[in-house]
Amino acid sequence: KTFTKEEIKQIVVDENVEFIRVTFTDVLGAIKNVEVPTSQLDKVLDNNLMFDGSSIEGFVRINESDMYLYPDLSTFMIFPWETDGHGGKVARLIADIYTSDREPFAGDPRHALRSVLADAREAGFTAFNVGTEPEFFLFKLDENGNPTTELNDKGGYFDLAPLDMGENVRREIVLTLEKMGFEIEAAHHEVAEGQHEVDFKYASALEAADNIQTFKLVVKTIARKNGYYATFMPKPVAGINGSGMHTNMSLFTKDGNSFVDTSDEMGLSKTAYNFLGGILEHATAFTALANPTVNSYKRLTPGFEAPVYVAWSASNRSPMVRVPASRGNSTRLELRSVDPTANPYTALAAILASGLDGIKRELEPLASVDKNIYLMDEVEREKAGITDLPDTLLAAVRELAADDVVRSAIGEHIADKFIEAKKIEYTSYRQFVSEWETDSYLENY
Ligand code: ADP
Ligand code: GLU
Ligand code: MG
Ligand code: MG
Repeated sequence: KTFTKEEIKQIVVDENVEFIRVTFTDVLGAIKNVEVPTSQLDKVLDNNLMFDGSSIEGFVRINESDMYLYPDLSTFMIFPWETDGHGGKVARLIADIYTSDREPFAGDPRHALRSVLADAREAGFTAFNVGTEPEFFLFKLDENGNPTTELNDKGGYFDLAPLDMGENVRREIVLTLEKMGFEIEAAHHEVAEGQHEVDFKYASALEAADNIQTFKLVVKTIARKNGYYATFMPKPVAGINGSGMHTNMSLFTKDGNSFVDTSDEMGLSKTAYNFLGGILEHATAFTALANPTVNSYKRLTPGFEAPVYVAWSASNRSPMVRVPASRGNSTRLELRSVDPTANPYTALAAILASGLDGIKRELEPLASVDKNIYLMDEVEREKAGITDLPDTLLAAVRELAADDVVRSAIGEHIADKFIEAKKIEYTSYRQFVSEWETDSYLENY
């Protein structure tokens, strides 16, 4: 659904909206916002709201810092929670970023995704449909309202209350999202204690990325209202499952889902196989974007339902790509490596560009792996052509730097800023001496 300026102005009056929050996402995936009173609404709607780009991570230097926010009117939404006492509401608009010369800004992650989507349209695809399954943990807050490392329950996969103390919070999250127009398909307790998942219906990529950012904001807000802290950190607790954000994908043309071919034994079209071929080809390079934190690589280890190798399967969940059993319009590929710290705009841009490259070059995927990869040894894996995902942020960043397709999907501006920031992050981590090290070495050496 999209809105005209006039419709938005009318809704703002009818619904007693007092503030407009204009949001965007920086290169590292953080949501930023400028909040203005509705007296400034015309300025916002006429693309005249400015901000200082030099203050945003990965944007621009001081001398070119004035930037404009162009709100995408289809993203207008009123937050369903109360603001302090006096009844006025807050609405939000997601913006694209433009330079002072009123050109789309090359450092805007949303712009990067728009560009790759334009390539997809040129190749004949009307939509890149994306449905994600973000997982998160609920931790208790202390008496000062700060997050602790104490989990909120001891529940497990699909458990019910009273083991599952998160049930009420999860329900409130679901109801809030529904009020905001999300179609919730399922919500359940995940495998790890304190871990939850809420699945919402797929959308075309730009909207799906916007939805992910909104989703995180809602989960964190509702958790805190209930005395919990929600985190999307990929591996908050060692020794139990981490949090992934499985990414389900399909390309549609005007004739429907292009991944479908009922004459194939798996029901997949040549387009689907070639897209998969591209995903496998560029997986090590887009991993830095799909798994952009030091902590991401603590999730991508054997034994916790997260992938470690570049492979795919129709039947089992250990490889990086699974082909879920649903067919017809739900025919899709599930990329299981992505975690919720990914900037959804740049990650989807990179993943889509990889798949499109596979289609263009007609890349055939490796044979599917139908046994548990974790039980195969290195020699068996090598024979099957299975490679490893990068095992640290630094290794991933080096792979990204060396892949032209993925780098150009996010654009050189973002690639440079991202690589620079991630190298600094990794160095800072490397200089830290952890408890594991003092436990292992202090008394032995
Ligand atoms: P599973 O339990 O198999 O891992 P879920 O049912 O939890 O998967 O989530 C499936 C996700 O895939 C949902 O977000 C759903 O909307 C999405 N989905 C369904 N069909 C498609 C499709 N054709 N393209 C992209 N995503 C899809
Ligand atoms: N939590 C697992 C992960 O880290 C996924 C569990 C599942 O299959 O839903 O990816
Ligand atoms: Mg899950
Ligand atoms: Mg899944």
